[in-house]
Amino acid sequence: MNVNWRGALIYLLILVAAGALIVGLFPAGNTADEIPLSQLVNDINAGRVESVVVEDNELQITYNSGNEVVSRKETGVDLTETLLALGAERAAVENVDLQVEPASPWSDWLAILGSFLPFVFLAVLFLFLMRQAQGTNNQALSFGKSRARMFTGEKPTVTFDDVAGVEEAKQELAEVVEFLREPQKFISLGARIPKGVVLMGPPGTGKTLLAKAVSGEAGVPFFSISGSEFVEMFVGVGAARVRDLFDQAKRNSPCIIFVDEVDAVGRHRGAGLGGSHDEREQTLNQILVEMDGFGTDTNIIVVAATNRPDILDPALLRPGRFDRRVVLDRPDIRGRKGILEVHVRGKPLAKDVDLEVLARGTPGFVGADIENLVNEAAILAARRDKKAIAMEEFEESIERVIAGPERKSRLITDEEKQILAYHEAGHALVQNKLPNCDPVHKVSIVARGMSLGYTLALPEQDRYLHTQDKFEDDIAGMLAGRVAEELVFGEKWTGAHDDLEKATKLARKMVTAYGMSPKLGPLTFGDRDELVFLGREIAEQRNYSDEVAEEIDLEVRRIIDQAYDRAKGILIGYRDRLEVVAQRLIEIETLERQEFEALVA
Ligand code: ADP
Ligand code: MG
Ligand code: ZN
Repeated sequence: MNVNWRGALIYLLILVAAGALIVGLFPAGNTADEIPLSQLVNDINAGRVESVVVEDNELQITYNSGNEVVSRKETGVDLTETLLALGAERAAVENVDLQVEPASPWSDWLAILGSFLPFVFLAVLFLFLMRQAQGTNNQALSFGKSRARMFTGEKPTVTFDDVAGVEEAKQELAEVVEFLREPQKFISLGARIPKGVVLMGPPGTGKTLLAKAVSGEAGVPFFSISGSEFVEMFVGVGAARVRDLFDQAKRNSPCIIFVDEVDAVGRHRGAGLGGSHDEREQTLNQILVEMDGFGTDTNIIVVAATNRPDILDPALLRPGRFDRRVVLDRPDIRGRKGILEVHVRGKPLAKDVDLEVLARGTPGFVGADIENLVNEAAILAARRDKKAIAMEEFEESIERVIAGPERKSRLITDEEKQILAYHEAGHALVQNKLPNCDPVHKVSIVARGMSLGYTLALPEQDRYLHTQDKFEDDIAGMLAGRVAEELVFGEKWTGAHDDLEKATKLARKMVTAYGMSPKLGPLTFGDRDELVFLGREIAEQRNYSDEVAEEIDLEVRRIIDQAYDRAKGILIGYRDRLEVVAQRLIEIETLERQEFEALVA
């Protein structure tokens, strides 16, 4: 859109400039002195005026002395009448040489032009927009042309070597690479070449990267366009773009068309807010029509990417269209190590760097996070004038990526520091003493991002299944900060808000989603619409009675209360340890795992 609005603006500016030029060429009036009519009357009565030339409402007065001045009268009124009315003597007036000239033709033209100019503006603007709306392939205004960028197959920049941790996806796509390299081999056996592949996975897992790698491996051109680029202001433009993109691709086949964010056009009708959208449907239909129109000799593979597979229109996923689905998951520990290896390639590393340890310390990180992490570490090392990146920098970067940069400058009072120290010490101690909690890696009362202090607990390995015991211990750990505040100071502070919210949510999920309440049994309550890969809930629909709702509330309360009591029991039992950890925190602000474990042992 940008380009075209800029075009419209230029047109407008040209018109304004032209208008200014026309007006400027014909300056109105001349530069002689102007006198009031009363003075003219005086001068006439005194016999000093030789002639008056009347042009429209302008008077050019010449004195006997040869001086020239101007004056004005009202339009449409006879000059003589006016002068007499103002007190001029008839005899004196008759002495003056009066000439009435026809009005200048230019002034009429200017007036007409002046009144028409706005209409001309509007007309031109209107024509301009109409033409764009139709998406005609006008050379000067190539509005309907796709803005697909072309990556030539001559220099494949990315290969499968640059993508780590997604072995299954790579295997599936290796087949696609073969289709593109030697289509004949498959066609001679009567095999139907797949037309479309959808890559599904959370943001940052390498969907775009993998699509590029496929074209790099096959050595074919790569046309990429993002779904949101199809969705334009004017209906029909998206479809025109699709047609254009496929035309361009056909001329360069074999090749890959990469449609990023395909959910922007391919969401199934009625999903999400705003309902169906004409433009989206037309664009989607055009993609399907183009794909259906591929002959057996069209060696084009359309690769689409989305993090919302749940809202894709089923028509897109039908056989013969995007019938291959490749899922990219968050990498596990081995995957993360592989991705780290890819990104530290060519960077000088200090001897103490252990990628295995880094991979262990970054659960939940996706490829993009890891790339970011390595980059941050390199920047830190450069800022410290080091020749190589050391473990220290990596560890600091992990925390940066997780929690945002340290904010040492935030001022807290000594009293607040005490409260924070006991709060975090409470979390850490309870998590340390409960068998199912993840080990505490770090306790800190240095503000980070939005939180004032934090206790970082990381699992020993990625876990996909959790037990009821673990959840109960986790909730106790979450509440422990508040418990410590109450125990030590007999007071409650707002800082625990986040902990309480997390604990309540988890408890409610145990009851309504995981069937972990003995009272309510193995049922789920409420219909949830979740964004599968973004892990967020959009809406919950109640499908249970008021009595059950009350029971759920009671069960949630029971879980929370029990966890609270357990945390309290532990903190009372280890009150001396709590004291030691909190004091140490006040002293050095940050405790690493080893020191912390030594203190509480
Ligand atoms: P997506 O398209 O899934 O949102 P991208 O492909 O744009 O993610 O990934 C962003 C960046 O993260 C890539 O350019 C790459 O540097 C890094 N990255 C992501 N996944 C991987 C991976 N599996 N292996 C190596 N690097 C990765
Ligand atoms: Mg992407
Ligand atoms: Zn807390």
